[in-house]
Amino acid sequence: MSQQTKFILPESEIPEAWYNIQADLPRPAPPVIHPGTLQPIGPDDLAPLFPMALIMQEVSQERYIEIPDPVLDVYRMWRPTPLFRAHRLEKYLDTPAHLYYKYEGVSPAGSHKPNTAVAQAFYNKEEGVRAIATETGAGQWGSALSFATNVFGMDCEVYMVRISYQQKPYRRSMMNAWGARVYPSPSEATGVGRAALAADPDTTGSLGLAISEAVEVVATSGGAKKYSLGSVLNHVLMHQTVIGQEVIKQMEMAGEYPDIMVGCAGGGSNFAGFAFPFVREKIVNGRDTRIIAAEPSAAPSLTKGQYVYDFGDTSKMTPLMKMYTLGHSFIPAPIHAGGLRYHGMAPLVCHLYDMGYIEARAVRQNPVFDAAVTFARTEGIIPAPEPSHALRVAIDEALKCKESGEKKTIVFHVCGHGHFDMAAYDAYFAGGLPDYDYPEEEVERALAELPQIA
Ligand SMILES: *Cc1c(COP(=O)(O)O)cnc(C)c1O
Repeated sequence: MSQQTKFILPESEIPEAWYNIQADLPRPAPPVIHPGTLQPIGPDDLAPLFPMALIMQEVSQERYIEIPDPVLDVYRMWRPTPLFRAHRLEKYLDTPAHLYYKYEGVSPAGSHKPNTAVAQAFYNKEEGVRAIATETGAGQWGSALSFATNVFGMDCEVYMVRISYQQKPYRRSMMNAWGARVYPSPSEATGVGRAALAADPDTTGSLGLAISEAVEVVATSGGAKKYSLGSVLNHVLMHQTVIGQEVIKQMEMAGEYPDIMVGCAGGGSNFAGFAFPFVREKIVNGRDTRIIAAEPSAAPSLTKGQYVYDFGDTSKMTPLMKMYTLGHSFIPAPIHAGGLRYHGMAPLVCHLYDMGYIEARAVRQNPVFDAAVTFARTEGIIPAPEPSHALRVAIDEALKCKESGEKKTIVFHVCGHGHFDMAAYDAYFAGGLPDYDYPEEEVERALAELPQIA
């Protein structure tokens, strides 16, 4: 008997609205507050940086927000994305569990990030913005935004942390191919960049500094340029919910419902997009899926951080958000999952974790790469290091089913391919990747520096 492997939706089944979990929360998430006044921030505080349509989405309590046709037209270039039944991985693990994975690596930039980049570029264009400036670490967000701005005929300026600019030249080439201008940060293009270079001409840069450069460019543009973020914010998470809404329909096609779902969480956007439509099923319809966020043991914000107000960035330029945080002064160990090295986590993900709707698990990078290679050798796809964290947890759950004989349905999210991460695989194959456990004392130390908010 042939076994169905791919669950493919027709284009007509691309979701026509984004799902906003704020409409279904049993109690609202804590407000974002201004670090000076300690009052909740309002739309006016954000207006210099973001277009009004996105600011309104950030605070919206509407359950569904219609996806504009021009955005759907771009989504159709790769959506719906496939859901796979991992028959070969199941067989290799010899587990009675049924394993499925959603795959976002088929987008032009190779990850889930274009789902929000396209939406953000569209709303900026609508409001007359000519160019978007942003920062990028390893280059995933920069490449997604370069793709999206190009589609809408806009300019894109990317401030890329200098060390990555030098070490990841092909992500930079991708951005150039889509017409973006990429600056190694710190750069000569901004005042903060020139000051940093004057202080230390050989600096390798930091994400905080790159943010400062992009924000300066926007603030001095007289409204012609805006800023854009690829994770953490409510509207970014909402744009990603096309993923989970498709998974609901695809699991119906498969005739199963997930007992366990796993996604990786850095800032929380791919996890939220994958999981929030299922969290709604828990809140509204009482379904009892276990939903697990996988994070690195080197940056364990959910499993070791504290739920307090903190800055979103190292340079303390953002408003204060209540989140599970390791402290904004957190200096991540150089693990290969660059997208998971954030000190905090999306406030909506944290709120759901605090209320017990989701779980979290921290995993070390050697077992993560073991899982990645197992996946490549069974399912064929070479996953990025970030989703390999989810894979590790999913495989561990499948092995528990083997022990107990339970036939659970486990669905995990492979949010991107690893074709630009082969240096990380090489390091793993060479042996001796360090495993880091972030020390508890460091969390205490960094949290002592936080602003105290009642
Ligand atoms: C950016 C990125 C992440 C981390 O960001 P989230 O907002 O947590 O999704 C994870 N995986 C991939 C492939 C990414 O590009």
